[in-house]
Amino acid sequence: MSSTLLSPLRVGTLELKNRMAVAPMVTCYCDDDGMPTEQYIAYHEARARGGFGLIITENYAVDPSGRGFWCGGLWKDEQIAPHSELARRVHAAGAKIFVQLYHCGRQTSSAIIGAQPVAPSPLPCPVMGEQPHELTQAEIATIIGQFGDAAHRAQQAGFDGVEVHGAHGYLIAEFMSAYSNKRTDAYGGPLVNRLRFPLGIIADIRAKCGFDFAVSFRISADEFVIGGRDITETKAICRNLEAAGVNLLHISAGTYESTRVIIPPLGTPYGWLAGYAAEVKQVVHIPVQVVGRIKDPEIAEDILGAGQADLISFGRASLADPDLPRKYLEGHAGRIRQCIGCNQGCIDILFQNKPIRCLVNPTCGYEAAQEVRPAAILKRVLVVGGGPGGLEAARGAALCGHDVVVHERSNRLGGNFWVGAIPPGKGELTSYITWLGEELDRLGVRVVLNSAVTAEVVAAEHPDVVVFAAGARHVRPQLPGIGTAVEACDVLTGRTSVGHRVVVAGGGMIGSETALYLATIGRDVTIVEQREAVALEEGGARREYLLEEFDRRHVRIVVDATITGFVKGGVQVVQAGTQHTLECDSVVLALGMAPDRAALEALGSVGDIRMVGDAVEAADALKASRDGFLCGVSIGREPVDLPMAGTDPRLVPAGSPRH
Ligand code: SF4
Repeated sequence: MSSTLLSPLRVGTLELKNRMAVAPMVTCYCDDDGMPTEQYIAYHEARARGGFGLIITENYAVDPSGRGFWCGGLWKDEQIAPHSELARRVHAAGAKIFVQLYHCGRQTSSAIIGAQPVAPSPLPCPVMGEQPHELTQAEIATIIGQFGDAAHRAQQAGFDGVEVHGAHGYLIAEFMSAYSNKRTDAYGGPLVNRLRFPLGIIADIRAKCGFDFAVSFRISADEFVIGGRDITETKAICRNLEAAGVNLLHISAGTYESTRVIIPPLGTPYGWLAGYAAEVKQVVHIPVQVVGRIKDPEIAEDILGAGQADLISFGRASLADPDLPRKYLEGHAGRIRQCIGCNQGCIDILFQNKPIRCLVNPTCGYEAAQEVRPAAILKRVLVVGGGPGGLEAARGAALCGHDVVVHERSNRLGGNFWVGAIPPGKGELTSYITWLGEELDRLGVRVVLNSAVTAEVVAAEHPDVVVFAAGARHVRPQLPGIGTAVEACDVLTGRTSVGHRVVVAGGGMIGSETALYLATIGRDVTIVEQREAVALEEGGARREYLLEEFDRRHVRIVVDATITGFVKGGVQVVQAGTQHTLECDSVVLALGMAPDRAALEALGSVGDIRMVGDAVEAADALKASRDGFLCGVSIGREPVDLPMAGTDPRLVPAGSPRH
């Protein structure tokens, strides 16, 4: 097939076998001393084996004081040998590998680095909030040398190059931007001075590594902050970087103040930075790489075909499917598991300083465990419920060789996850369910829709193992008049209708999303929430979007309020000790979910029942997909450590020893 994406690309003296690169993403898989773990190496190795031409590691601090996360490091010689194993295994799997080098500057906290953050000027990062120390010229020279030393260690470890992280508001970006650099010495003021720090770094790397070592530079095309740098100055900077000996420019956007553009959420147009990359390409002669919601090869081919960039970064897309290039190369692009932009497993977890995972790829971060293996004892497996937990259990079991059938009581797969895709901007979520359905079909799993599990169904299927994944239902607290209230899921699916003035009882994720949905179809909406704010379970970017939309659509938000009852034409609430009535035509309940175990009765004498997903405890789809998959691959083999709840003596934690 004719494909620019699959064609080689020269970067300096290095040749990449194709135009697909794994974007640098912090994983939190390295240890506290910046050393690579087996988990970290296996994660990269899997993506190299999957066919990516270039892998760029997470940001490596050039000094411990430059860390913003618990990421890798090359600040001392002892880190060379362990990293050479990473480079060796990635090379053996067929890819090239760059280390991304950075110093976080003011975008960190003293809690992480044990010292005061540093910056070109003593201006706190508005997000992190700590007053930084203004670097002296001697300290600047030290940090320049640390970049060169770290690059040299990367070269000694066998890496093919480095990417200097000049984007996202970290120290180099802080120097380059007049927004954060207010110095009056040789490192501040006109652009030529603000470039002294990055150009000094490039010169030091070249002096220590020579000219056959690839050097890339990542830059935010636009900082998306008022008073920040825009594309005009970025183009001038890129010309200077090329003249300084940079081999590749990697176009991104934003700073911590505009995180939503660094990690664009659901609803952001695909390949949205390609236009910026194209502008840079017009003024340089070196290759230009671009990132930004490029989740499948078709989007990537369009960008390359239009001449907007030379190399494509797959960030979250590579978490979702490490085999993306291989599937494309082999003509199976339709089998690529696409990132759904949820941010649940990667970004939201990362901001809690925990190792990243992926909602749609339950083996992300577990590559070293090689969980899919032929089962020792083959079983007949009945999965009750077609949500993410049940479907992943079915997939895991089928991959290990079991005979699997799924019974879903409704007329479609997806359960409450499918309902969650109905609010504005979330339709992409359904692609995961579609992918799961197609995979189950490919694996020979029977799926029976409109089938509430009964004793007759169980008798007909005569399973050895039942995976109970029947999901969750709305909580209906014992409150006066609650019988008149409808449930959020019924509203979203159109099973019930509501009047013009609507009170949504509960401002968590489901309540907030339902409120937005109702506001967009013209309802007058009020949210009542017991806590101090709404949408607290949402990830940062989605929550920001929701709050902006509530404001724009005049959704009223009543917080610190307890609902005490429902009366004709209104909801009674107590707020600050005062009871009052919110008038409305309809009340929509979103007061939480509880496991739906009604179908357990039908399972009769089945001796091996394993519960997963919301059937254990109403939680998020990230947990459901992982627990479901682990349940599936654990059937017929040794135990897998997976904590689960269950009081029925027949119910064992999924993955518990059976054989
Ligand atoms: Fe994409 Fe969600 Fe996976 Fe993150 S967790 S990579 S956003 S699918």
